Amino acid sequence: MTDNSYANQSIACTVTNCKNHNSTKNFCSLESIKVGTHEANPTVCQCTDCQSFEAKSGCQ
Ligand code: SF4
Repeated sequence: MTDNSYANQSIACTVTNCKNHNSTKNFCSLESIKVGTHEANPTVCQCTDCQSFEAKSGCQ
């Protein structure tokens, strides 16, 4: 079972559907994350993705 009681205050996050989200504090519970893009030429923030996202069971 994932322990998401830790809140990494360097990684604010509001993605409540993610298994790694600390929902009481709205931070990520991981020590680090990887951010990437699904675009060939990203130009706006919507082009970027948290590639450490893991869907909570039942939220896929
Ligand atoms: S892994 Fe990414 S999407 Fe999931 S809680 Fe952390 S920062 Fe948010």
